[in-house]
Amino acid sequence: MAETHIPLIDLRAQRERLRPRVDRAIARVLDRGQFVLGSEVEELEERLAALAGVEAAVTCSSGTDALLMVLLEAGIGPGDAVFVPAFTFISTAGAVVLAGATPVLVDIQPDTYLLDAASLERAVDAVRRTDLEAAAVIPVDLFGQPADYEAIGAVAREHGLLVLCDAGQSFGAGRDGRRVGGFGDATATSFFPTKPLGCYGDGGAVLTRDRERAARLRALRVHGCPGEGDDCARVGINGRLDTLQAAVLLEKLALFEEELAARRRVAQRYQKALDGCVETPRVAAGAESAWAAYTVKHPDRDRLARELAQRSIGCRVYYPKPLHHHTAYRERSVIAVDLGASESAAGRVLSLPMHPYLSAAEQDRVIETVRAAGKG
Ligand SMILES: *Cc1c(COP(=O)(O)O)cnc(C)c1O
Repeated sequence: MAETHIPLIDLRAQRERLRPRVDRAIARVLDRGQFVLGSEVEELEERLAALAGVEAAVTCSSGTDALLMVLLEAGIGPGDAVFVPAFTFISTAGAVVLAGATPVLVDIQPDTYLLDAASLERAVDAVRRTDLEAAAVIPVDLFGQPADYEAIGAVAREHGLLVLCDAGQSFGAGRDGRRVGGFGDATATSFFPTKPLGCYGDGGAVLTRDRERAARLRALRVHGCPGEGDDCARVGINGRLDTLQAAVLLEKLALFEEELAARRRVAQRYQKALDGCVETPRVAAGAESAWAAYTVKHPDRDRLARELAQRSIGCRVYYPKPLHHHTAYRERSVIAVDLGASESAAGRVLSLPMHPYLSAAEQDRVIETVRAAGKG
């Protein structure tokens, strides 16, 4: 008998839980007839800022636009070097190139997949010997765990770099008693449907402790114009959030803390059962991951993926290539340091089913399959 499919990420259980509330919220927006920005967006921004413990949240059309707005607001452009991990989602570097700046690739820590501060230090030293201006670093909270902001912050302070955080996978996560959004100068996050907090389309936000920065970001979100009829002092983008997406996110926020706890329980169970048979993800002391993905490492990753597929278990490689192996970034990024840990991770990682509604029975099937394949 064919086994039922276990998806990598399952959005249906949450849809069922929220069906009447979300359907009513959507109907309210449609009946009122305002579709871009508006009261739901304002309420959402207050709730996001409160949850992250920061002064302001500026929502926008996607996580990528959030990154781009942060870079534009900081005045980063041609001639500037922006340090990014080589092992990340493509848009971390895409936003840098779109802003006109140059991504300088930095290696990761092999066990957390997070940007390595020692590698950053070496990359900054190398850039100092070029014509580029070392302007900013974008630490990425890969798979949901906040980057090592203490170590990165120390390097950034020493060299005068802005710390612009890519929290595309980590809204709700924390480290050393602080939540994502409170680290660095500004933090970009994403509400793409499969992220820990996802809407039903594209969406994102910038979190910051600086209200004036937030005001400038609000102008950049609407073509750079502070208000209708005002002078456009800067060139901005069309980066607004749809009212419908804000209405959906407000309903989902009601379950968010509970869902984060459920993800944590799933991760702990994986960790206990899989330790020693595959390399399980390391969470730093004092860090709380949002568990956007549960990613293991295995020397024969492709065989592990085949065995999972055979038992109808969803899995995926995030990410099969480091940035500099992509055609668009081969020439546009600078490689000044060894990227061995990024290369090695790309060849060995595999993400297993992870979502708040993964049942114990489903998880047992995943564990059993991984353990069997891990031995062989
Ligand atoms: C998803 C993601 C982004 C981009 O978010 P979008 O909303 O898809 O544009 C950026 N960085 C990381 C690390 C992400 O996971």
